[in-house]
Amino acid sequence: MARGRDQGADRVGILGGGQLARMLALAGIPLGCKFFFLDPSAGACAATTGTLYQANFSDLDAVRALAAEIDVATFDFENVPAEVAREMGRLRPFHPSVAALEFCQDRLLEKRLLLELGIPVPLFHAVDARPDLMAAIDRIGFPAVLKTRRLGYDGKGQRILRQPEDLEPAWQSHGGSELILEAFVPFDAECSQLAVRDAGGEVRFWPLTRNVHDNSVLVLSQPGVLGRDLQNQAEHYINLLFDRWQYVGVMAVEFFVLDGELQVNEIAPRVHNSGHWTIDAAVTSQFENHLRAILGLPLGDTSMTSFPVMFNWIGELPDRNRLLAIPGLHWHDYGKSARPGRKIGHATVTATDQATLMNRCSQMAAELGGNWAERLALLQSSAGQAGSASPSRRSTSPETLSTISAA
Ligand code: AMP
Repeated sequence: MARGRDQGADRVGILGGGQLARMLALAGIPLGCKFFFLDPSAGACAATTGTLYQANFSDLDAVRALAAEIDVATFDFENVPAEVAREMGRLRPFHPSVAALEFCQDRLLEKRLLLELGIPVPLFHAVDARPDLMAAIDRIGFPAVLKTRRLGYDGKGQRILRQPEDLEPAWQSHGGSELILEAFVPFDAECSQLAVRDAGGEVRFWPLTRNVHDNSVLVLSQPGVLGRDLQNQAEHYINLLFDRWQYVGVMAVEFFVLDGELQVNEIAPRVHNSGHWTIDAAVTSQFENHLRAILGLPLGDTSMTSFPVMFNWIGELPDRNRLLAIPGLHWHDYGKSARPGRKIGHATVTATDQATLMNRCSQMAAELGGNWAERLALLQSSAGQAGSASPSRRSTSPETLSTISAA
């Protein structure tokens, strides 16, 4: 890795200046890195941890100015325009690769690649025009989820179709975009696998993390509770993706668990919200290992150092001063203004044993009120009982590849 101009500091450029960029910087500053962010918002929350280039992503001059300042580039969200990523990749080492980014920007390309690699995904069908929607429903049946192929996240751009009457309103609100229809998966649980690969092909996995979503937004994460069999499946699938892209950096893959098998929901070619617990409860956090990978430094140990549960703060921050009285609590305020639906912070509760952890989580739920007790109960439920109830249990396994590829 070329050294930078400032007393040997590694100068890291990040496309995007949100909380993930900020947490990358907070992990990298002790390593001696300096950070430069490109973000259209003057209020980008990473700005307090480095230098902000405030510009639209379409501003290629700003991208070139950023490139001139840095040794290596990465991104903190996957909707960076591909031409911007390519330009940065032409000027500086850029990780993970533009190819990985482009696949993960489009749910249809992503699912087709997963099938090609033999990785199970929910049944799906491309929908570009109104007749496609009928064909897709004929193939997939109800319930199903209509999603935009691009720019959707946290359930945005999604609609559940439960009956024929739902088709027209869904088409009215979504028609015109490129869409994908997926079978609604009656999952037993949701989980994600965080992993890191360096340029030499060394790979490390953090423990598989169980996740609870509310209104499609992540609210709770707990690693190490789903067992070795599911972890083995997840590691196998990620190895296939890592090999395919000769990937460098951290990747997160979100899965549905159904009858002891994993199906991929989506791939994030970056650090991920469900890995925030690694800051306070792993030897090396996802943020530090991402930086180590892209800087060509040795990867760090991904083992857990304590038992954690992460609570996500959406829309508003709870009373920090009261919650800090709970032992083992680690507070993370992203410095963002509060707005409904916005991720503005998280807390990780840690303990040296599971029983103490669960006592502390119950204390948290009691302090927080609302529906936190129900969310916690879902996190603790056996994977065979959690999740949504629906009779349909369909996925696209490799055997159905030929039929689906035609969709
Ligand atoms: P996404 O934005 O695709 O990650 O979806 C956000 C959340 O919506 C997921 O974590 C699930 O809780 C739910 N969801 C998305 N797609 C499906 C599906 N095909 N079946 C069941 N639940 C889904």
